[in-house]
Amino acid sequence: MASPRGKLFGTNGVRFRPGIDADLRFVLVLAECIGTYFSEGDVLVGRDGRLSGESLSLLTTSGLMSSGRNVGETGLVPTPALQFATRALGYRGGIMVTASHNPPEYNGIKVMGHDGVEIPRLDEQKIEHVYHDNSMHRANWVEVGTSRPEPSTIRLYLQGILSQVSTKLISGRRFSVVVDPGNGAQSLAAPALLDMLGCKVISINSVIDGRFPARGPEPTPATLGDLSAAVRASGADLGVAYDGDGDRAIFCDETGLVYWGDQSGTLLADYLLERRPGGTLVTPVSSSQIVEVVAAKRQARVIRTRVGSVDVSRTIIERDAFFGFEENGGCIYPAHIPVRDGGMATALMLECLAVRGLSFSKVVAGAFPHFYQAKTKVPVDPSKVKMVMKAVERQASGKVEKVDGLKVWTDEKTWTLIRPSGTEPIVRIFCESDTESKAEAVMRKFSKIAKSAAA
Ligand code: MG
Repeated sequence: MASPRGKLFGTNGVRFRPGIDADLRFVLVLAECIGTYFSEGDVLVGRDGRLSGESLSLLTTSGLMSSGRNVGETGLVPTPALQFATRALGYRGGIMVTASHNPPEYNGIKVMGHDGVEIPRLDEQKIEHVYHDNSMHRANWVEVGTSRPEPSTIRLYLQGILSQVSTKLISGRRFSVVVDPGNGAQSLAAPALLDMLGCKVISINSVIDGRFPARGPEPTPATLGDLSAAVRASGADLGVAYDGDGDRAIFCDETGLVYWGDQSGTLLADYLLERRPGGTLVTPVSSSQIVEVVAAKRQARVIRTRVGSVDVSRTIIERDAFFGFEENGGCIYPAHIPVRDGGMATALMLECLAVRGLSFSKVVAGAFPHFYQAKTKVPVDPSKVKMVMKAVERQASGKVEKVDGLKVWTDEKTWTLIRPSGTEPIVRIFCESDTESKAEAVMRKFSKIAKSAAA
């Protein structure tokens, strides 16, 4: 489709498959609409390593100039670097050409305000109105914008991260770290960051390639076998992997065991709280209850949001929280910048391990109890989603939370989150409990309810 109707923005910017869902002219027009929304000042444009990234960022720059905006061009950078530089260099806004962890055929446009944070949902609608009303500003020959390179972005970003941690303390430990950017944009920043922190760096999959040939752009326990093996083979202290645009970090310990993001996020929260107890912590409804265990121990309060990093970022800002994270490895440390940043998470993790003075696995074992998780998905026709959710709610005994989907508490330590997917015709069922048998049992119970209501 050359000109999509309806909603353009999804959970995380505008995502599409160039040449399949939209042709390239769509990007030019969309950029004119974004330039119209910004209405003044200069805009910073960057891209990750996707094959369509170069053409899409050129079109984005052209569309912005067409609407009268001047453009700074970073070229290839991690998303958090673009966000940090947008704020640090006083740009009116930033645009990142990225589809984050989506498969290689996807790309997208992410729009940031002057603070480097994704613009609010209401502002996304303003851009959609300009697009659908065809009311974009098209500058005349005198007003048309110009572009210039902005080569200092990654240097600024790394300096920003280093200023937030004790480099002396970290360097003193001489950590040995395996880094796996997964052919993504952190290839340009993370190995350099670790080097600056005095680590012995072993890089794998660190040549940018928009086909993501090594392990795909999404780091999960299932895709990080090479990282675990490299950590074990080299006797490294830890491993870290990033998603395609470098805003998410997933860690493994010295035994190669990969921790999901709510474990590493809770570990960092525990460390930050030890330095400064109290305060507010933000995480989506889907994260493990270990966060409440740690918060209770350290007199902190937890705010649960809808799933999605923009909701976590905006809540952190509104509630003046000290930290936030998602279970997919997104960590947000607002003292640095209130957006997800895989590089910042890495530096904090090294500082945490340096202060603890123990191996990664021992630090995790001492931080929080173990809970068991189980998940499944049930195919549900979009027309039946409401009915399925009603059936679940009717048959739920116990406390029900409705922050995002339905979160049903069966006992004090057992919850099930039932949530329709935003992108596929399925309902996701995600359970957590203090025993494996309870987690499996509630998963079977709610999947049976959903299946019979969907039939
Ligand atoms: Mg990402």
